[in-house]
Amino acid sequence: MTTIWIDGKYYDRDSAKVSVFDHGLLYGDGVFEGIRAYNGRIFRLDAHLDRLYDSAKAINLDVPLTRAEMQAMVAEAYATSKMQDSYIRLVVTRGVGDLGLDPRKCVRPTTICIVDTIRLWPQDRYDRGLICLTAATPISHKENLSPRVKSLNYLAHILGKIEGIAASVDEVIMLDSAGFVAEASGMNLFSVSDHSVRTPPPYSGILRGVTRDAVLELAQEAGYGTVEIPQNRYDLYTADEVFLTGTAAEVIAVTKLDGRTIGSGSPGPVTRDLAARFKALATRGD
Ligand code: PMP
Repeated sequence: MTTIWIDGKYYDRDSAKVSVFDHGLLYGDGVFEGIRAYNGRIFRLDAHLDRLYDSAKAINLDVPLTRAEMQAMVAEAYATSKMQDSYIRLVVTRGVGDLGLDPRKCVRPTTICIVDTIRLWPQDRYDRGLICLTAATPISHKENLSPRVKSLNYLAHILGKIEGIAASVDEVIMLDSAGFVAEASGMNLFSVSDHSVRTPPPYSGILRGVTRDAVLELAQEAGYGTVEIPQNRYDLYTADEVFLTGTAAEVIAVTKLDGRTIGSGSPGPVTRDLAARFKALATRGD
């Protein structure tokens, strides 16, 4: 059952509320995580908490719970929900302030944990792959709002998504401000050429996905070459395979980009292998 924890108390979907003076709402001032649990186990909670605390540090936000308290709270909220497979959204905002943006007016950050479910794509998109378009809107410049911060400010990615919706495609590929391909609206990007699995490096300004890191490990275990390297659209158009990774979507192929058919036009063998390996890893619970 959907279970929501806010600053020490449990609520259901209808009773869970935050203040209209919360700077998470007013200014997008806060950070979050999207986490999955499979078969009663939370997948890579440590990696998600590392990223949450790093994101908070980067925006100078003191998380009111220690890491151990946060870990225990997430585990308790998940157990309380009695859901086996779930999507857990952890949010820490600057807290309740006034209508000015000064964060000093926010006395205490707000911590929220929502245990629910999510499904991004229907099965046919996994079977045939996604049709994508390069968005005209780039992700944030890395020295402005670092894309490595998983912040509550997702407007660049949402504007990209809106471009994709307007063009009736499934998903968008977003560029960074240097013109390299960066990520999808909420997923990391990989290409496969000559059995080598390639993905942009985090320092180039992307969110370092927990799924991305797991897939890189799995690719190495499977004996594929892996390389973290900046790429441009040419590299994707001419790749054997392109796929996307994320907590909600797991591993999903891109079979068309900007009107070009990628590889054979169907999800390729490396993508399918890594998707199966990821599913096995996640459901095993490491
Ligand atoms: N990039 C962006 C912009 C995202 O929002 C996400 C989803 N958190 C990802 C990449 C994938 O990260 P993860 O594998 O940790 O879900």
